[in-house]
Parts: sequence; structure tokens; C-alpha cells
Amino acid sequence: MNLTKRILLAMVLGISIGVLINLVAPSKEHFLHTWFAQGLFDAVGQVFIASLTLLVVPLVFVSLVCGSAALGGHSRMGPMAIKTLGLYLTTTAVAITLALAIGQLVGPGHGIDMPGEVEAFSVQEKPSLKETLVGIFPSNPIAAMAEGNMLQIIVFALLLGVAISRSEARTSQYLQAFFGHLNTAILKLVMMLMHLAPYGVFCLLAKLFADLGWGAIGDLALYFCTLLFVLLLHGLGVYSLLLKTLTGLSPKIFLRKMWSVMVFGFSTASSNATLPITLRTVEKDLGVDNRVASFTIPLGATINMDGTAIMQGVATAFIAQVYGIDIGITGYLMVVLTATLASVGTAGVPGVGMITLAMVLTQAGLPVEGVALIIGVDRLLDMVRTAVNITGDAMVSTVVANSEGLLDRDRFQQALTEDDTAPRSTEERPGDQPT
Ligand code: ASP
Repeated sequence: MNLTKRILLAMVLGISIGVLINLVAPSKEHFLHTWFAQGLFDAVGQVFIASLTLLVVPLVFVSLVCGSAALGGHSRMGPMAIKTLGLYLTTTAVAITLALAIGQLVGPGHGIDMPGEVEAFSVQEKPSLKETLVGIFPSNPIAAMAEGNMLQIIVFALLLGVAISRSEARTSQYLQAFFGHLNTAILKLVMMLMHLAPYGVFCLLAKLFADLGWGAIGDLALYFCTLLFVLLLHGLGVYSLLLKTLTGLSPKIFLRKMWSVMVFGFSTASSNATLPITLRTVEKDLGVDNRVASFTIPLGATINMDGTAIMQGVATAFIAQVYGIDIGITGYLMVVLTATLASVGTAGVPGVGMITLAMVLTQAGLPVEGVALIIGVDRLLDMVRTAVNITGDAMVSTVVANSEGLLDRDRFQQALTEDDTAPRSTEERPGDQPT
């Protein structure tokens, strides 16, 4: 059985075992919970996430130094960055508009009683635009790496790459070869980890589904289904349409190759933890050149969160309906703007969307306590929206690479391969043999 099939099978088995434990042993004291769900499955799941996260900083840094060193001499960096940012922001704005529109149409919050006593929920201070922009520039690259501050790492790697490409020939060749080889070795590590993925995915899902209290869905069933519907519509429909119209490539092949990455996103609920797998798949299986992928994918994991924006759209409509507040067209425009910008600079980790939702609600003049209404069912939705978030990153990366002539369309059409790990551009990069 190939790896993708094994990962999918692990997902199905994990969910089934988890649901079974939840049904058979409702009490958390039961040995099935203490020994298995909270014990074995949780431990293996945590180790799996830690080992994925471990690779994020080195991979992003090394891969992006390679990409920008190879691009350095060309003048394509600017247009590529503008296209990427433009597509990320546009797709997010489309996503949230779709969510608000469907949220209004379905009205999942109508007929739900306003909660009497709700937990207080504190809003995080929204950083100003100036703070956000200044915060992108690192003063200490080691601190940026230690904190996993992706935007700062991106800036440092880009600058170092450009400097390498402009250095004297011998230095430049030597360093490009060094980073190229390091990149190949880290990708090998990603591949080794992927072979363990079925076990990790199984344990994460079995633990999560054993924990999930289905009773919480109750009143929120319509909210849950509406949100799920918009997420699927955007993740499968809108992305396919965009890919087809902008590149002429087959969405079916794209989705098939992205399946296992989506399962990773779904099981970890973290775009960040999935980043090594996304990057590898986009380069190896979709044929996106390292010069494009190494920039677009880490950037996307941080700033492009369409699934999260969709949740915020549906949640805002839902909360406005429950509280019977009409925020008007300006309120909705404010939501589109804040939700699109709120994700910039927020790392893709589990549950972060709920924190930015509080900011969005404040901007729209809705009670922040509304968050408490939906938080109970958020985990499962977080998993689905993370899968959408990373699919969006991969789609934009493919479109940008295609428009730059840096997409290997033959490789895109090819059947999945499992073993060779070196991205094409690393294999082909000049100066691989230092003298
Ligand atoms: N978990 C999501 C991600 O990592 C972010 C969120 O919506 O909470 O992409």
C-alpha cells in the first residue's frame, strides 16, 4: 500500500477508534481514556507533532536561502512577491465574503436563545499597522528562530540569499552548494518522518475523537454544518476553479496530490506543523520550483488563512444573529477587512483563529463573549479549516510558479513518487560541486 493510502487508512481508523472509545467509555476515568486516549495515543501524537515542528525553522530558513540565492541575480523577486501577496489577500477576502453571505442566507443563529451567563473572554490588543510592519524586521535572527517568528525568519533568509548571490563567485558557489546539500538532507528527514506519519495521524485522531464531546454540538448543529459547507465549497470548489482558470491544470490531480497534506493539516490543526510536508509536496509532487515554493509556502502558512477567515465570517454572522444585533454593511466591511488583516503575523497553530475572532468581533461592535458560544465545537472545525488553509497556500504557490514559468507541468501530471527527496531546482542548481 502506498504512503498516501496508509495515511488515509490511519485517519479512518483513528477516527473510528476514537469515536468508539467516546461511546463505550463516556467517563474520562475509564482505563480506555487513561491508558490509551490520554496515555499512549496522546504521547505518540505529541512526539509526532514535536518532530514535525522541529523541522519547520531549519527547513524554512535553509530552503528560502537556497531559493533567494538562486533568484538573487534576477529581477523576478518583486513581481513574484506582489503576485503572491495579491493572491493571498484576494482569496482570503473572497473566502470571508462567501462566509458572510452564506451565514446571512442560512441564518444559523436565528432562534437560538441569547445565553444568560457566559464566560468572560478577554480580547488581545490588536497590533497597529505600524507595529505589524516594524515587527517583520528582525533585530536578532537567532531570537527570531528561537521564537519561530516566521515573517522575521523569511526576511533574514531572503536577505542572506540575495547577499550570497551577489558575493564573489567562489563564495557564492560554495555557499549555494552548502545550503543546497543541507536542504536535501533536511528534506530527507521530512521523508523519513512521513513514513512514520500513519502512526502519528492514527494516534492524534484517536485521542481527539475519544475526547470530543458530541453533546456540545446540539444547538450549534446548524452553525457547524454551515461552516463545514463553506469550508468545503471554498477548499474544493473555489480553489479548483481558480487553478483551472489561471493555469489550465487539472484540479483533480492537484487535490489528489494534496490529499495526504490535508490529512496532516486535519490531524495536527496547525499549518505550521504541516509546513515541512506542504513544502515537500509542493516541490516534489506538484512541480513548483524551489525558488517559488520556498518563499510562498512559509509566507502562506503565516499570512494566508482562508479557512480561518471563513470561520470568522460565519461566526460573526452567527453571533450577530444570536444577540439580535444588525451590524450593517459597514460592520460587515469591517469584518472583511479585519479578518483579512488579522491573520497576518499570527502563526498557524491550533486555535489561533478563536483569538483573532475576538479582535474581529470588537471591530464589528459585537460582544466578545460570543466567542464562548462556539468555542465548544471549535476543535473539529479548526482541523478542517487548517486543511483549507494549507490547500490555499499550495494553490497560490502553483499559480505563481506557473505564471513565472517555474512550474514543471510534466511533474505535476506525473503519478506520485515516494522516495526521492531532492527538489528539482536543488538538483539542477549550478555550483553544486564546490571546487
Ligand atoms: N489552526 C489554524 C492553522 O494552523 C489556524 C486557526 O484557524 O486557528 O492554520
